[in-house]
Amino acid sequence: MYLEDVNRVICEEELELEEFLDIVGEILRSGGVDKTIVVDSRSGEVIENKKLCAALKKIGVIRLPVSHQVSETIFIPLEHLGFFEDIKPSKYRVFMDTEELLYRNWPTPLVKLRKSSINGRVAWAKLEGFNPWSMSVKDRIGWYMFKKSLEKSGKENIRMLVEATSTNTGLAIAAMCTIYGSKLRAYIPSTVSTTGEILLKIFGADVIRSPKSLTVELIDEVEDVAKKQSAIHLNQFYNDANFEVHLRYTAKELELQIREAGIIPKAIFGGLGTSGHLSTIAFYFKNRFKEVKIYGVVPKQGTFIQGIRRIESGMKWVHKVEIDKIVEISPDEAAKAVLEIVRNDGIFVGLSSGAVYAAYKKMVENKELEEGDYILIFPDMGFKYVEQLSKYI
Ligand code: PLP
Repeated sequence: MYLEDVNRVICEEELELEEFLDIVGEILRSGGVDKTIVVDSRSGEVIENKKLCAALKKIGVIRLPVSHQVSETIFIPLEHLGFFEDIKPSKYRVFMDTEELLYRNWPTPLVKLRKSSINGRVAWAKLEGFNPWSMSVKDRIGWYMFKKSLEKSGKENIRMLVEATSTNTGLAIAAMCTIYGSKLRAYIPSTVSTTGEILLKIFGADVIRSPKSLTVELIDEVEDVAKKQSAIHLNQFYNDANFEVHLRYTAKELELQIREAGIIPKAIFGGLGTSGHLSTIAFYFKNRFKEVKIYGVVPKQGTFIQGIRRIESGMKWVHKVEIDKIVEISPDEAAKAVLEIVRNDGIFVGLSSGAVYAAYKKMVENKELEEGDYILIFPDMGFKYVEQLSKYI
């Protein structure tokens, strides 16, 4: 057995989501792999354990455990495979282009909210608003879905993209379009603010506003346009690159961060939109740290909070993972929570972050949380939502 540079091993194996989750779940639980990948020494092609190889590539290992002729039974820890080396922050924050500014800016900060923490239930905020383009968690998926689509096409560029978005994913894809010279047509529902529409136009996207109220309701129409115009529809709601990017980076970096902070959280709170980021974090943490609870946050029945929505409106990944509880929050509670956080700790986060904080607070008040550390995933910053917040000041 020896460790081989991942780029020197050829495996084109396709993996169904279920198979991928089975293989990766086992790797995360055991903390490594227990057999080698058999590779042809001349061509570099994988002969045996192709699915394991494909899964390891997807989760971003740097080295693969390889043997020739027969597979060896041997345990190799994730650390030896360079699993955590995939995250490479720029030490002195110098970046060669605006794409590098995204992925070498990770991890996004994890910050203790000293004054917003309640009664020994310490709240740690992961500030996804520190991503550079849409200033939200969505930069991660805009970047990864675009890159994967480009890779698959084998071309230098994508001519045109269409996407249904509630602003943030659209901004992230629009940024990738400017970097790669493509064009985006963004479809937004009626509930998106004027600020969101203006921002998309500032980023150079064409914007079409629909009378429908949920982004997910626009998918079929957008898929039709994509077919008619030979455009690429990345489709954040179904594209597994959404799940994979959070597994490869967001969840993994959160593990490195809790190690540095010296904590193991009792629970992680997050909002559900496509369900991409929280489902992945649930999958990762439930496998790595059995005891960590996951709480999902959705808007109260019949209400809208930009970026999150109700599970029954249709989500892919949330049904593949274990979520311990869903907490419903009203737009009013979310807005008031935003003001509470900014006036306590001086950080101005968005409305879906307010909803996440309101869920944490509600569970503390209901005596559902014991003392300990809690992680709150805050998807973006508050500056996009001043219109909606103006009535609360
Ligand atoms: N919050 C905001 C502000 C968002 O833009 C989104 C997604 O659009 C979410 C939360 C939900 O994230 P996810 O799609 O990963 O569930």
